[in-house]
Amino acid sequence: MDSNTQKIIAIMKHFISVIFIGALFVTNSFAQENYKDLHTNNDYTSAGRNSVISGLDNSRGRSSAKNIILLIGDGMGTSQIYSALIANGGQLNITQMPVSGFSKTYSFDQLITDSGAGGTALSSGVKTNNGAIGVDEKGEPVTSILEYAEQYKKATGLVATSAITHATPASFIAHAVSRSSYEDIAADFLKVDIDLFIGGGEKHFDSRADGRNLLDSLRAKGYDVAFDLLALNELKKSKIAVLTAPEHNGKYSERGDYLEKATAFAISHLNKQRGGFFLMVEGSQIDWGCHQNDTDYAVGETLDFDKAVGEALRFAVVDKNTLVIVTADHETGGMAITGGDMSKGYVQAQFATGNHSAVMVPVFAYGPGSQYFTGVFENTDVFVKMMKVFGFSTNNRK
Ligand code: MG
Ligand code: ZN
Repeated sequence: MDSNTQKIIAIMKHFISVIFIGALFVTNSFAQENYKDLHTNNDYTSAGRNSVISGLDNSRGRSSAKNIILLIGDGMGTSQIYSALIANGGQLNITQMPVSGFSKTYSFDQLITDSGAGGTALSSGVKTNNGAIGVDEKGEPVTSILEYAEQYKKATGLVATSAITHATPASFIAHAVSRSSYEDIAADFLKVDIDLFIGGGEKHFDSRADGRNLLDSLRAKGYDVAFDLLALNELKKSKIAVLTAPEHNGKYSERGDYLEKATAFAISHLNKQRGGFFLMVEGSQIDWGCHQNDTDYAVGETLDFDKAVGEALRFAVVDKNTLVIVTADHETGGMAITGGDMSKGYVQAQFATGNHSAVMVPVFAYGPGSQYFTGVFENTDVFVKMMKVFGFSTNNRK
C-alpha cells in the first residue's frame, strides 16, 4: 500500500470508531430512561372514569403554607394532560386546580433539558447541565428544597414510580455530576434525615459494587425498611424506606394503585410529624410512554398520576395549610392529539420525536401561596416560590 492508501484507511478507521462511540452514547442514554422497545401505539380507550375533586376555591391572600406537596409528571406537557382529560370523559383533578402558569424548561447547556437538569431546577432553583443532579454547572452541590425543609425541622418525603435513585427524585436529595451514578445517589439518602421514601431501586442500596448494604445502614439510622405497600400500616417508626422493586416499578397496568396508595400514606405519615412537611411525588413513567411514542402508556400513566394529585388535593382541602403544585420537568415526544371522542373516553395521538421537546410546560397550584404560580416563569422560579411560601432563605446562586 502506498502512504496515501494508508492515510485513507487510517481516516476511515477513525470515522468508524467515532460512529461506534456515538452509537454507544446513544444506547447508554436510552438505557438510563428504561425505554424498552419502541412500539408505537396510537390510541387509548378508557375502561372507566376516575372521579375528580370539585369546588376548589382558592385561599387567596394567604402567602405562607405549613406544608408543600409538589407533584411532578415527568414529560407531562399540555397534550399529555389534555389527552388524559379526554380519556376521562372531560375532567381531571389537575384541571380543577384554580391557578395555572407555564414554566420555561431549558437547562444551563441545552435548549432541551433532561430530567436531571430539569429536576435540579425545580428542586434547587439552579439551571445546570443536562445529566447533572443537585449540582450547578461547575459541579458544585446546591441545596434542595427538601434539604432546606430538613434544616427548618420539617418532615420530608419522596415518592416515585421509577427507582427512587432515578433523576427526578434524586435531584431532591443527591448531588452528582452524572445522573447514572446510582450507587452514589443511593448513598446520599443516608446524608439527609429524610423521613419517608417510596420507590424502586433496591439494588442500588443492597447489591452494590462497594459491597455496602445501605439497607442495614438505614436500619441502624432508625428506619423501618419494607419492600412492598402491603404492610405500610405495620410500619411504626417515624422514618420509613420502602423499596418496591429491584430497579423500576412496572408500568401503570402492572402496578395497580401503587402511586395513589403511596401518596396517601406519605401524606398521612408526614402529617403526623410536627412542624409541617415537604413531599415530592413523581409520575415517572409518563416520560417513558412518550419516549416509546406509546399513547396508551402515556395516557394511562397520566391518568394514574392524576389520581395521586386527587389524594393531595383532598388532603389540602381539609388541611387548609397546604400548597399543592403540579408541574413537569419537560415535555416528552412532542405529543399531538390527532383525534378522539370525549364521550367515549377515546383519544388518538402522534409524536414528533422519541426524545424530549423544548416547549414550556404547565404549572398548576392550589392552596395558600398558589397565587404566585401565574404567568410564564423559569423552572427555577418554582423553587424560589416554594421557598417564599415556606418562609425559607436560600444561599443557592441564581
Ligand atoms: Mg423522572
Ligand atoms: Zn425522558
